[in-house]
Amino acid sequence: MAVLDNPVPWPHGARCAAAISFDMDTDSALHLSHADAYKRVGVLSWLRYDEVAVPRIVEVFDHYGIHGTFFVPAWCIERYPDTVQTVVESGNEVAHHGYLHESARDQNRDGELYWLQRSIRVIEQFCGKRPTGSRAPYANYSHYSTDLLVQEGFMYDSSLMGDTKPYVLQTAEGSVIELPIDWTMDDWPHYAHAPDFGYLMPISAPEKAMEVYLAEFEAAYEGGGLWVTIWHPFVTGRPARLASVAKMIEYMQSIGGVWFATMEEIALHVKQCIEDGSYQPRTVPMPYYEGPIPELTEGFPKGLALRGPQGWGNTE
Ligand SMILES: [Zn+2]
Repeated sequence: MAVLDNPVPWPHGARCAAAISFDMDTDSALHLSHADAYKRVGVLSWLRYDEVAVPRIVEVFDHYGIHGTFFVPAWCIERYPDTVQTVVESGNEVAHHGYLHESARDQNRDGELYWLQRSIRVIEQFCGKRPTGSRAPYANYSHYSTDLLVQEGFMYDSSLMGDTKPYVLQTAEGSVIELPIDWTMDDWPHYAHAPDFGYLMPISAPEKAMEVYLAEFEAAYEGGGLWVTIWHPFVTGRPARLASVAKMIEYMQSIGGVWFATMEEIALHVKQCIEDGSYQPRTVPMPYYEGPIPELTEGFPKGLALRGPQGWGNTE
């Protein structure tokens, strides 16, 4: 039994599509979460390892003749233009990832739109073209995000986890192709030990992380799927980890039938397949909810309203 049915017909008969994507966050998020970020030189140095890691990653891509996608907060482009320049020069994609790694769900609609448009302008000015793709920082996609991405002409998003195949997010305003992700493919749970972020994972050997990534790859390969990484240069760009990535690319290229592409190339291909009828995607109306579900707001006698556990994101 195939794990995945209705696969996308990938170019040249490829068995699956592989997109190596990095979120180049550098120290953007730290300034928003910590007003005293400027004093935290230790963690700043850890995050600024991006300046060393990104050129190395680009070299690996060049060596294997592939391109990847870098989701970059626009502030990082302004702050680290030379680093982002190495990405652009080698033909890799730069896509939207917030302005200062802000969480979209913590902005109102006007705020989310303002920072989205400001980020687009920065990317357009630096890269010479508007971004066609977006990934919400922290994967905190809001219930406004689809409408705003449609309004700004984005072709794809890569923040949501509601499927393993490309699918379509539909609103009354239009649609965006979703190239879904999953936490299994994120490098933070495998490697990140970051006391300043309260994120303390036991650090895995590269082989352990690769085991998870490769298991996902084998399933995608078997079922005609899409394999997308959510890696970070300062995390995966360390020598032993990057050497394992290189080995993995070599393996994937050696078995054949793997289409390495940028997210933009994949979205464009999926769009064409939808238009010519060779791929019928699942279409999901967005947002899931316009507001709190009525069962929570219908007004109960005192003491009867349902209450959730405290400390699990209950903010009211
Ligand atoms: Zn990020």
